[in-house]
Amino acid sequence: MASTLHPDVTFPSGTVVAEYVWLDGRLGLRSKPRTLEKKWKSFDELKKNVSKYLPRWNYDGSSTDQAPGTDSEVIIYPQAVYKDPFRGGDNILVMCDMYTPGGEPIPTNHRYQCQKVMEKAKDLVPWFGIEQEYFIMRPKDHKPIGFPEDGSLPAPQFAYYCGVGASNAFGRRISDDHYKACLYAGIQISGTNGEVAPGQWEFQVGPCVGIDSGDQLWMARYILSRIAEYYGYDIDLSPKPVVGDWNGSGAHTNFSTLPMRKSGGIEEIYKAIERLSLKHKEHIAMYGQGNEKRLTGKHETASIESFSWGKASRAASVRVGNATVEEGCGYFEDRRPAANMDPYLVTMMLVSTCCEIPIEKMPTP
Ligand code: ADP
Ligand code: MN
Ligand code: MN
Ligand code: MN
Repeated sequence: MASTLHPDVTFPSGTVVAEYVWLDGRLGLRSKPRTLEKKWKSFDELKKNVSKYLPRWNYDGSSTDQAPGTDSEVIIYPQAVYKDPFRGGDNILVMCDMYTPGGEPIPTNHRYQCQKVMEKAKDLVPWFGIEQEYFIMRPKDHKPIGFPEDGSLPAPQFAYYCGVGASNAFGRRISDDHYKACLYAGIQISGTNGEVAPGQWEFQVGPCVGIDSGDQLWMARYILSRIAEYYGYDIDLSPKPVVGDWNGSGAHTNFSTLPMRKSGGIEEIYKAIERLSLKHKEHIAMYGQGNEKRLTGKHETASIESFSWGKASRAASVRVGNATVEEGCGYFEDRRPAANMDPYLVTMMLVSTCCEIPIEKMPTP
């Protein structure tokens, strides 16, 4: 719905509203805005000097499952900025991570360890392209918007994937608004598509370098939930939101390093896949809650029990695309991560295992 304010009402110049965004104790997104004096000359200058211009802030961790009521303050550190597609102008969205007042990362701050691994892998220039699948849900009955309100079932899966028309595509305005908003914000959204189940969509973020992948994906998720909120819907990232013969939601993670992208890099890819095959359980533990309901071996997934890989196979844990095989270099796709995974954990695990970079303190997801 449109704003109630008069069109003349705009933000005073020199003043910026910064919406600070962070993660709660259950991988949910939270945010609150504050007013800042604009001391930077351009958005690009701010982007390169986030901690210089943006102050740390705090929130009540007892309301987010992250601190006891008696000592409830959690401190947030600004880490990455995006242009705010909701307020426009000089206003910004700020991706933050979470610390104790003593400066220790709190247990749900997985960005901290991820950043350390990415720093060590800097010379390998790791790239990630994450495919985020999601359902748009009606808050009333917690059903996807493609499901009839009378409780009957929609037509079986076939015409929904990349589909067009009122009977096949549900919620395109949300997907399209999100696409535009991400481009405006400075998120490297590379595309979208209607998915296999009714009311299910996907967007892709990448290729992003290192820690940028997690920051951008979280902010893209934030923007998506905000847009859906204005339309009166919820975004559901759970791996299997509808039981029955309906696809679940994944977050396929495409990955490459500089050596993999160079001529002959396919050998590096095969080496990485071999290393991944030996750490299947460790990776699954970090790839999202409830993923066993999705990784059944049906609906274009591989079984959660064992590791498999294949050329162009959508029934494998890891897929190497035809183009990569033909060109002898490129990237591979880890199809295991669930839609609700924390990208800081998934990107950290991929770099750690494939590039043999130890994790200082293994997080508990
Ligand atoms: P799929 O064919 O599995 O549906 P998508 O086209 O949805 O794949 O997504 C592929 C993602 O991989 C995109 O975000 C793209 O930017 C990213 N990508 C492309 N090349 C590379 C690469 N060399 N390394 C990592 N990610 C890449
Ligand atoms: Mn895709
Ligand atoms: Mn998909
Ligand atoms: Mn994919």
